[in-house]
Amino acid sequence: MNKLEHIGIAVRNLEESNKLFAKLLGVEHYKIEEVGSEGVRTSFFRLGEVKIELLEATRADSPIAKFIEKKGEGIHHLAFDVNNIKASIADYASKDFTPLNNEPKTGADGKLICFLHPKTTNGVLIELCQDA
Ligand code: ZN
Repeated sequence: MNKLEHIGIAVRNLEESNKLFAKLLGVEHYKIEEVGSEGVRTSFFRLGEVKIELLEATRADSPIAKFIEKKGEGIHHLAFDVNNIKASIADYASKDFTPLNNEPKTGADGKLICFLHPKTTNGVLIELCQDA
């Protein structure tokens, strides 16, 4: 892993949370992007080296909707930048972590992504991401 790339936060209402985080961080979000395959709408804030990604569910069966139902709003995942996501998936799988997919998926913000199951990472959902 190269660095913490972003922190993903699950929110109920993206517009309201965009205002809240703009007030909190002192910067406006720089993009809003929908990832249809994941059932999420995301916005991004840049703060130095790290980004904050807000995630809102766009449908009831979205992983974000299920997360909020179970745990409420809050930190959803930590995303780490990697050089070669395919190699990273194989590497972490060989070290007893559980990638949620065998092949990288297309995520928001021009990234190829793969999550590691939180059962294998002390309850923290980890996203591996690489610039596509
Ligand atoms: Zn993310």
